[in-house]
Amino acid sequence: MSPLRAPSTLQRQRPLAPDAPVWLFDLDNTLHDASHQIFRIIDQRMGQAVAQALGLPADEADALRRRYWKRYGATAIGLVRHHGINLQRFLASCHDFDVGPLVHAERGQLSRLRRLPGTRIVLTNAPAHYARRVLDALGILQEFDGLWAIDHMMPMGLPRPKPSLALMHQIVARLGVPARRIILVEDTLRNLKAARQAGMRTVYLYHPGTPFAHEQYGRDQYVDMRINRLSTLLLQAGAGHMPGNPDRA
Ligand SMILES: [Mg+2]
Repeated sequence: MSPLRAPSTLQRQRPLAPDAPVWLFDLDNTLHDASHQIFRIIDQRMGQAVAQALGLPADEADALRRRYWKRYGATAIGLVRHHGINLQRFLASCHDFDVGPLVHAERGQLSRLRRLPGTRIVLTNAPAHYARRVLDALGILQEFDGLWAIDHMMPMGLPRPKPSLALMHQIVARLGVPARRIILVEDTLRNLKAARQAGMRTVYLYHPGTPFAHEQYGRDQYVDMRINRLSTLLLQAGAGHMPGNPDRA
């Protein structure tokens, strides 16, 4: 895959079928439950990495992290913009731990994914090497045709992760299919909003551990389907009931 074929070494590569949907699956808190332990570890490591990189005491590093997260939607963007931090190295240091014993996913996910018609791509703001390890630990790596990670969201060297509207337009253009054929499945509402602005269909997977998960305002305007479990979507779509209306302009 070029961001659809090249950026990863996923084993299976299938051509886009003419009318089949293209699924974009978020990773953390969508394909697996990261809230329990993984987020806590990443958070701790990120705090240490910021303190070390900028030579700050822990409390100041934490305050700065929170400020950048609020302002840019990702701590790493502030670090790159204002401190010239090497993004890849920074993210690698925060995500470089053994995820195997920590991943949790719904039972039966593999067989349900297999029955899902269309192309399947993982779209995550996490680094590619981490995403591959999580997918591998879940035993579902081979079920995806592509991986679009933060490593592939760096136009002109600056990170433009979800919910960047420019990223969503870039994805539509790169896939070369009408935006209504693309379906983003996510636990983060603001990412779904951007996807809808670019013309995609959207599935909101509610996860109580996701920040702002309880936000309701305006959601109905950009969410085609709301689910509490990924299996609900996989079962319905596997039986041919697709979320949203692919013909809507
Ligand atoms: Mg997520």
